[in-house]
Amino acid sequence: MKRVVLLGSTGSIGTNTLKVVEDHPTLLQLVGLAAGANAQLLIEQSRKHQPRVVSIQDVTKLPEIQEALGTRCLVMTGPEGLIRLATLPEADIVLIAIVGIAGLEPALAAIRAGKDIAVASKEILVMAGEIVMREARAHEVKVLAVDSEHSAIFQCLDGKKPCSVRNLWLTASGGPFRDATKWPADSLPTVTLAQALKHPSWTMGRKITIDSATLFNKGLEMIEARWLFDIEMPCVQVVVHPQSIVHSMVEFIDGSMIAQLSTPDMCLPIQYALLYPERVGCDRVQTNLARIGHLTFEEPDTDRFPSLNLARRAGEIGGTLPAVLNAANEVAVELFFQGRLEFTGITELTTRVMKAHSVVTSPNLSQILAADQWARNEASR
Ligand code: MG
Repeated sequence: MKRVVLLGSTGSIGTNTLKVVEDHPTLLQLVGLAAGANAQLLIEQSRKHQPRVVSIQDVTKLPEIQEALGTRCLVMTGPEGLIRLATLPEADIVLIAIVGIAGLEPALAAIRAGKDIAVASKEILVMAGEIVMREARAHEVKVLAVDSEHSAIFQCLDGKKPCSVRNLWLTASGGPFRDATKWPADSLPTVTLAQALKHPSWTMGRKITIDSATLFNKGLEMIEARWLFDIEMPCVQVVVHPQSIVHSMVEFIDGSMIAQLSTPDMCLPIQYALLYPERVGCDRVQTNLARIGHLTFEEPDTDRFPSLNLARRAGEIGGTLPAVLNAANEVAVELFFQGRLEFTGITELTTRVMKAHSVVTSPNLSQILAADQWARNEASR
């Protein structure tokens, strides 16, 4: 039995994680839950799974939850709640699926408390990959990927030596604007929010859906892969694969490529991370290749989607630059949501903020958080 703490239980990854736990009641048990502001859903989830501790980010919801759950369950709030959950003595693994940087300190706290972590929040490895992986090695805990691409690479690598790897190939759906004949470069500035939110193959949160439309999401995943698999940035490649069946691939030094395929369902990478190293049965995913018919691959269009080059540069230079890339993009996406920035402005604004940043090499956590704050102010300005 693995005891699981889930940070971010009411979002897309969180609700899928609960499905996985419900699929395997004899293998997985939830011992702690944290949510942002959706008190009603958190209460419902807690009644069903009976965790010992829950936490809600929005402090105004605290009394409502305390009243609903009674004294059986400790209800907390704020960063203290997240740290308490991340270090819960009975937990074996902490799955972090909180949007934004709020997951970073709980991730480090969990590692230092000797817990394996399953990472869905990209910010953790993008901003502080070097520190997180160093701490994980020092405390001999695993950092498992929940993202479909990184889970695929992890499954393909299957413990093989880093020196046997030539390239990691992340697949990208290409997002709603992949087709250059339908969406030429000069049409992109005026695309609407509704058009950008129409992702062809995955149903996800709003922020990540916009990041998929700009290909920023793939850029963040390139940096994550660099740290997670301890590989140099030039060996992290992207290929566009609109069917989203091949979730990613590893190219080995002898020219062999190993890929992981399935119909898209986030329950699969979540289950793999939570139950690793066991592979257990699951009826959710059935992949009928004959019915799918064809799988296609194409070069990413970095002229229309310059965010891939930005991410490569941030990953190569390292230091505080990936944190700046991430923060500037987050502000830019928010401005796009508010209608104050056009679609192509997201990458333009991020580029400008990155250019204005003086990079700190080998930063500590407070320098990373300071760079994040600087980039947010600079982007807003
Ligand atoms: Mg992904």
